Amino acid sequence: MAKTLSILFVSSEVYPFAKTGGLADVSYSLPLALRELGHDIRVMAPKYGSISERKNRIHEINRLRDIPIPVGENTALATVKSSSINNPRSKVQAYITTNTNYFDANKGFYADPSTGVDYEDNDERFVFFNRSVIQTCLLLGWVPDIIHCNDWQTGILPALLRLQHNDVFAKTKIIFTIHNFGNQGDFGLESISRTGFHESNADALSHKEKVNFMKAGIHFSDCITTVSPTYAKEVLTDQKLSNGLSDVLNRRAEKMLGIAHGVDLNTWNPKIDPLITKKYDKSSIEDKAPNKETVLERFGLPIHSDKNVPLIAMVTRINEQKGIQLILDAAKDLMSEDIQFVMLGEGDHSFYPELKALTNKYPEKFALKIEFDDELAHLMEAGADMFLMPSLYEPCGLNQQYSLVYGTVPIVRETGGLADTVRDYNPENVEGTGFLFPDYTAKSMMQAISRALELYKNPEAWQALVINGMNEDRSWGRAARQYSELYRALMKDTF
Ligand code: ADP
Repeated sequence: MAKTLSILFVSSEVYPFAKTGGLADVSYSLPLALRELGHDIRVMAPKYGSISERKNRIHEINRLRDIPIPVGENTALATVKSSSINNPRSKVQAYITTNTNYFDANKGFYADPSTGVDYEDNDERFVFFNRSVIQTCLLLGWVPDIIHCNDWQTGILPALLRLQHNDVFAKTKIIFTIHNFGNQGDFGLESISRTGFHESNADALSHKEKVNFMKAGIHFSDCITTVSPTYAKEVLTDQKLSNGLSDVLNRRAEKMLGIAHGVDLNTWNPKIDPLITKKYDKSSIEDKAPNKETVLERFGLPIHSDKNVPLIAMVTRINEQKGIQLILDAAKDLMSEDIQFVMLGEGDHSFYPELKALTNKYPEKFALKIEFDDELAHLMEAGADMFLMPSLYEPCGLNQQYSLVYGTVPIVRETGGLADTVRDYNPENVEGTGFLFPDYTAKSMMQAISRALELYKNPEAWQALVINGMNEDRSWGRAARQYSELYRALMKDTF
C-alpha cells in the first residue's frame, strides 16, 4: 500500500464552522475524502465572531494558548482551539485560530455584513491567521508532508514558510489552490510592512503596484491548482478571467493543474437529506413534488394545482460573477414565460433594489430572499425543476453538480467548471444532462431557457433528462484521488 501522507489543509472557510460559498464545502468534503484514502489530514481555519464555540464543540488546547504572533510592529495573541469535522465514516481534526480583535469582533468573514464593504485590516487579519498556522505546527512539533493552501486568504503562507521558516519546512511541499481569481487579496504597498517581509521581497509579493497575496501564493508554492480543467486553461490565456494574473501564472504554467470538485453525498443527497420535505431518489422522482410545494410556500408564491408550472431556482452569491445582471436584462422576456422563479442569495447591495423591484412587479412569479439559509438551499435543490447559473465566469461551481444529484436540470453558461460538469442536452440521442449557452448575453441565456421550457412540456422526455443527470457519478472520490496522486508526485519531485 502507498505510504500515507501528513497533510495540513488551510482555509478561511470550513463547513460547518463558516461558509459564504463553495470554498467552505470543499474545505469540508475534500479533507474527509482524503482521510478516507488513509491520509493523516488536519484542517485549520479562523474563528469569526459569528461562529459559536459551543455549537461547534470548539475546545481549548493547553499547549496552544496565548501564542504571540507578530503582525507588523505589533504582537497579537492567538489561542488555537480544537474541534473536528465529521461524516458518518470519518473524522478530521480541526485547529481553529481565535483572537478577539481580528476575528471575534467581526461577524463577517471578509466584509462588514451590513454594508458589504471589506474590513480595512484584512491584510493584518490574514497575516495573523497564516502566522498562527506556522506557530501551531511548531508548537505541536508537527511538520506535515504537505501544506495545502486555499485562495488569497492563505496566499502569504507559502512566502512565510519559504522565506522565514524554511529551516523547518524545507521538505514540506506546498500546494496552492485558487478557487476564484476574482478576489486576490490586494492591498496598498505599505502593507508589506504588515506582512513582516522586507522591501526587497516586494517583487515577489506585489503585482501592479499593490501587495497581492494571491500572486505571493503562486510565486512561492510548489504547485498551483485551480478548480476545473477549463478554468485552468481560461485563466492562463484570458487576463479578464485571471483578473490580471495570466502573465504571473504563465511563468509557472508547468506547475499548474485543474481538478474539478465532486459532491459530498453525505450532505447533498436527496435520498438521505434531512433538510428536505420528502426524500427521494431516481426511482421516486415524483416525490420532488412535496419539496416544490414547500419551496413555493416558503417564498410566498402561489401553488398551481391545476397545471404544471416549471420552477426555476437560483442559490447564489449576488454579484457580477454570478450573472445577476443577465437576470435583470432578461427579466421582461423571462417573466412573460409561464414559469415561477425563486432566488436565494446575498452579496453586492447595488443589485438589491432592481431585484426587489421584480418581486413587486411579478409577485406571483418572482420571489427573492436576501439571506444565507443552508436549509432553504437544500430545499430549493430538491424542489425546483430547473437550476439557473448564468455566470460570467465560474471556476468550478457546486450548485450545478448538486442540481444533477437532485434531479434538478441545470441551465448554465458554458464557462469554467460549468462547461466541465454539465453536458448539453441533445434531443436526437437523448444524451446530455442540462442546457448550456455560450454567450454572456440575455439573448443567449433565454435561448437555453426556452429549450428547457419546451422540453419540460414533454414529461417523458424531461424525466429521461433528469435521470441522465442523476445517473452520473459525482462523488468526491475521483477528485480526492487526483489530489492524492498530485501530493505523492510532489513528494517524489515528479510533478
Ligand atoms: P461559489 O463558491 O462561487 O459561491 P458554488 O456553486 O461553488 O459557488 O458554491 C456555492 C455554495 O454556497 C453552495 O453550497 C450554495 O448552496 C451555497 N450558497 C450560496 N449562497 C447561499 C445562500 N444565500 N444561502 C445558502 N447557501 C448558499
